[in-house]
Amino acid sequence: MSQQSENLLRLSRRVRNRPCLFKNYAFYFYSKLLPPYINFPLEIRIENTNCCNACCLICPREKLTRALGYMEFGLYEKIIREVSKFRYKTQSVHLHGFGEPLLDGMLPERIKLAKSLGIKETHIITNASLLTSEKSKQIIEAGLDSMRISFYGTSENEYNIIMKGLNFATTFENVKTFLKIRRDLKKNNPRIQINHAVRGGKTSELKKPGMIFDDLIDRKIGDTIVTTYLHNYGEGRDYNHIPSKKIISLCRRPWYLFQIRYDGKVGLCCFDYDGNQVMGDLNRNSIEDIWNSQDFARVRLDFKSLNYQHHALCLRCDQLRRS
Ligand code: SF4
Ligand code: SF4
Repeated sequence: MSQQSENLLRLSRRVRNRPCLFKNYAFYFYSKLLPPYINFPLEIRIENTNCCNACCLICPREKLTRALGYMEFGLYEKIIREVSKFRYKTQSVHLHGFGEPLLDGMLPERIKLAKSLGIKETHIITNASLLTSEKSKQIIEAGLDSMRISFYGTSENEYNIIMKGLNFATTFENVKTFLKIRRDLKKNNPRIQINHAVRGGKTSELKKPGMIFDDLIDRKIGDTIVTTYLHNYGEGRDYNHIPSKKIISLCRRPWYLFQIRYDGKVGLCCFDYDGNQVMGDLNRNSIEDIWNSQDFARVRLDFKSLNYQHHALCLRCDQLRRS
């Protein structure tokens, strides 16, 4: 999304939230305000696998009914070659989905291929429990640009409770070793983002999330520590209570995001963890065809008027209740 559109959207929110005579005008203004339509997605997320070695409390994995698997390399190659043709439009390619990307032995090859085809930014989100020295070297040398590490809980006790199945000490050591290897190889990639998720802005044990990484990361090359707030994963969890809250937000994902599952099916967004909504199938069609299809156009039309009644997952989504 362009800076101009972001500014307009911010302005519209300010106007919309003002209790005054302009309320109706504000709604009219807001409903006319649209993200720009671009004929190819800005951000493409490719699920290399939906398998995971953890069972985090915050994640609705126990509700997953779709089959587990890994994306075939042939399908991946077809997808990434098409993205490469539009690489001046697509700003970022994520190589993960509803699973742990480092379980995929082909991940370094996938990154290498994407970089060799000129993809600007490759990115993964990982729990880092499998980030061994060897894997660290492989992804650094393959050219991965950025990596978000989900590290929920900043004390051993808190981490081990939230990130069920993983071990605080192992993951912490992995991250330290990765940072050392990156330093030793004199590389600036991948930049890392340590991600803490908290509920209601509070952590239970440590006052300052991320403090254990403060002296380890390299902020000069773009490493960061961020705190995000828990979301409901569509209807997967119930952290943010929604029934009484009105829908007030325009979800902009269909204007920039393209979510591909490991089997080639395309979803509407990452919250559809079980793959209930299918916008197309890349085994049969291209990204360009699906992105510019009537189905996607209809979704954008519905979303523009805050009409989510044909989108069951969206109706339960907490993201629409945020200003
Ligand atoms: S949050 Fe990530 S690491 Fe945890 S179970 Fe879900 S997919 Fe796996
Ligand atoms: S409204 Fe929620 S569930 Fe629907 S597309 Fe947007 S983020 Fe996804």
